[in-house]
Amino acid sequence: MFNQRIEERYIRKWTDEINSQNKLTYYVKFKCNFERELYIDVLEDKFRKALSKFRLAYHSLEIETGRYINLDRMERKCKYCSMNIVESEFHFLCYVKKN
Ligand SMILES: [Zn+2]
Repeated sequence: MFNQRIEERYIRKWTDEINSQNKLTYYVKFKCNFERELYIDVLEDKFRKALSKFRLAYHSLEIETGRYINLDRMERKCKYCSMNIVESEFHFLCYVKKN
């Protein structure tokens, strides 16, 4: 019972923390539970690493690199299209075409 309460308390704290950080806006959209993700065990290394990096915002999209130079979030525009919108993870996955 004691261990269960400690675990519940930790998960509540973890949930509050990930929901309060701007950097994790994308991450919290698909990380709802404090548990090991299935993809970790089923994907090949190169795909697991790529997906992990993408989920953790370890990439070079403007939404992240703009943060390094304190560029306002709304000014982190996509350079690959003429839509004039923020280059977020969602935009990259759904709208950017690679040659
Ligand atoms: Zn774009």
